[in-house]
Amino acid sequence: MLPKDRFITKSSKLITYSNPPQKDKDTPVQFVKGVGPKLGSIFNSRQLNTAKDLLFFFPRSYEDRSEMLSISKLVDGVKATLILKVIQLRRIPIQKLGRSLLEVRCCDDTGEISLKWFYSPRGMERNFVPGKQLIVTGKVKIYRNRPEMVHPEITMGVAADTVHGVQELHPNIGRIVPIYTEIEGVPTRTLRKILWEVLESYGKLIEEDLPDYLLQKWKLPYLQDAVKKLHFPPDDPGYELECLVESNTLAHHRIIYGEFFKFEYLILRQRLDIDRTISPSLKPSQMAKEKWNSLFRQLPFQLTQGQLCAIKDIMEDLNKPQPMNRLVQGDVGSGKTVVAILSAAAILLKGGQVAFMAPTEILAEQHYKTVDRFIGDSAQVALLTGRTSNSERISIQSRLISGEPLLLIGTHALLEDSVQFNHLALVMIDEQHRFGVEQRKTLRQKGLKQCPSQSEIILPHFLILTATPIPRTLALTVFGDLSVTSIRELPPGRSPVETCVVREATQKKQVYEKIRQELKSGRQAYFIYPLVNDSEAEGFTDLKSAVAEAENLAQEIFPEFRIGLLHGQMKADEKEKVMNQFKKAEIQILVSTTVVEVGVDVPNASVIVIEHAERFGLSQLHQLRGRVGRGNIQSYCFLFAKKFNAGATLQRLEVLEETNDGFKIAEADLDIRGPGEFLGTRQAGDLPFKMANLVRDQEWLFRARNDVLELMKDDPDLLQPRHQVLKQYFENEGQKEFERLRTS
Ligand code: ADP
Ligand code: MG
Repeated sequence: MLPKDRFITKSSKLITYSNPPQKDKDTPVQFVKGVGPKLGSIFNSRQLNTAKDLLFFFPRSYEDRSEMLSISKLVDGVKATLILKVIQLRRIPIQKLGRSLLEVRCCDDTGEISLKWFYSPRGMERNFVPGKQLIVTGKVKIYRNRPEMVHPEITMGVAADTVHGVQELHPNIGRIVPIYTEIEGVPTRTLRKILWEVLESYGKLIEEDLPDYLLQKWKLPYLQDAVKKLHFPPDDPGYELECLVESNTLAHHRIIYGEFFKFEYLILRQRLDIDRTISPSLKPSQMAKEKWNSLFRQLPFQLTQGQLCAIKDIMEDLNKPQPMNRLVQGDVGSGKTVVAILSAAAILLKGGQVAFMAPTEILAEQHYKTVDRFIGDSAQVALLTGRTSNSERISIQSRLISGEPLLLIGTHALLEDSVQFNHLALVMIDEQHRFGVEQRKTLRQKGLKQCPSQSEIILPHFLILTATPIPRTLALTVFGDLSVTSIRELPPGRSPVETCVVREATQKKQVYEKIRQELKSGRQAYFIYPLVNDSEAEGFTDLKSAVAEAENLAQEIFPEFRIGLLHGQMKADEKEKVMNQFKKAEIQILVSTTVVEVGVDVPNASVIVIEHAERFGLSQLHQLRGRVGRGNIQSYCFLFAKKFNAGATLQRLEVLEETNDGFKIAEADLDIRGPGEFLGTRQAGDLPFKMANLVRDQEWLFRARNDVLELMKDDPDLLQPRHQVLKQYFENEGQKEFERLRTS
């Protein structure tokens, strides 16, 4: 049950603030005062399981309620807090909706205002007894010259004379108040009240987890102090609304620095651990070397400088006794696949097994064919996806167990328990941002062995590929345990895709004409939409959807061409059928959702249209754009964007008109959208940061990283007394984080 609003008077101070009983910060949330089983289960569904989790559920923003306004001073559109008296209430039926509107008329000494609720829980009226005092916060609307508020936040039963000087007592009024991310059905004011309680009862149990000397170095407060100030900011300099809203107070810095520090420790510690493992033994032989060289010479094209460098880096890594841990980043079409294939060949020829995982069936199959074409004569290759037949599966399994040098290409199917290797020496992951840390780890651990003679751990080499270049801050942090190779050029003969942001309907017509010409001359086109069908479009009802639009294009705009539809909800064989038709140019237009984002290679396609481009991140658009311009023909990318999305959105899209350099686009994207774009939503979700922001807080990231580097030189195992707090943290709560973040 929700707690009844308490009537706060001066004497209640004694009750609320009486000695808190001995409590445990790991107390399950439902036992926290004011929570109970119903709210408790809502919190649980958001991973808020203990009192401590609540303490670390930080406000999303803040609002200044220290000043009470009077009705006569209200201005349209402004948020205000008022002390009011209820005059009367009524329900006004709204026939159209079959509901009623609750209106409460109130006043203060200077005027009247009406409060309105279009949705109001039954029994809500009872709260509004005429003559009763309320404190109300909401956005003011001046309607027919009268002020009103729709769905304001109400604090009931606070006697007006206690309001002044009440800051220390009340979570909701007379102070800067926290705004929390709305949790389903739990209003921010309830959260505020619960947090007020949690802080009282459990705040003092928060243990410090950073060494004193570091806090002193940066003049940061203790964790306990910081947490308290974040929820209920003091009336101190440095904690003004502006600083709070921008996460720019010492309390914020304390949390941010702490998060980065612990994260960097885990990452660098992991690197140390990997340096202590060894790679699987392989049989180097003259013959293997010669065979590899001849494969290299037989490639149908000359490798670019970037490809050669990448292969050199990898070959060096593969010859070391420690496992390789390398990320190859290269723009779409830069030719990463062949780099991966040559790496695999090197391992196969020395008797090792290789796993190569791609995020989609289309891509896995495409790789399988490419591999077969390039090295099929000298190496064994198999394909494992969700569609592989049972008998084929069994045959693959027994080949793997027998230790036969085999390159196994596949989708997530590779992660299944039944896939066991005998001598897995190299794990490669394509389009790594499509996978989570967990998945990368699972695959790599299939090659984990304990060396029987010594206590050493054997881990396979690890190569991950990405077409979404990773900005430097991320490369240093999230991928801090990886070595990075960048392929910065495209194979010769590619002309950059001409890109144009299209806003006006008239301009669209011209674009359609241009596309018609391309199609008539034998080229093909992609049309990309954000959604599959309209029913998915809840809240975005004006979004075009692939299904509806395929019909529209077929009937209205391009009736003379054949059009196919591809989306993630189709069955795999349907997908493949359509994809093959497109590859063979049996269809000219492929209408698709973003399933074509990764890797699909149809060189004859010269046009890509992306609808609702404003809904995509720049790097994703860049990836999509990479579907064209794969041959020598001039290609075009048209980004259709909503006109009303002026300003920032269009400016953002214009970055794509200006450059084809994925690295520049990535930096711009990180600035605008944060790290999710690069890590995939999954991996971004894996990041342990509740507050730290890789873009905004770069400065603190570098500080923390440098401090950790110092510490690693000095005391990597945290044996010194001054590092006891850290050691304790990592042995207790930090342990879980550590396990979660391990990539190997
Ligand atoms: P990505 O890096 O996006 O995965 P791919 O490996 O799919 O790129 O390569 C894109 C296309 O370029 C493929 O058709 C591939 O065969 C071709 N390619 C790769 N390297 C070269 C090269 N050095 N010269 C010419 N074509 C190349
Ligand atoms: Mg690729």
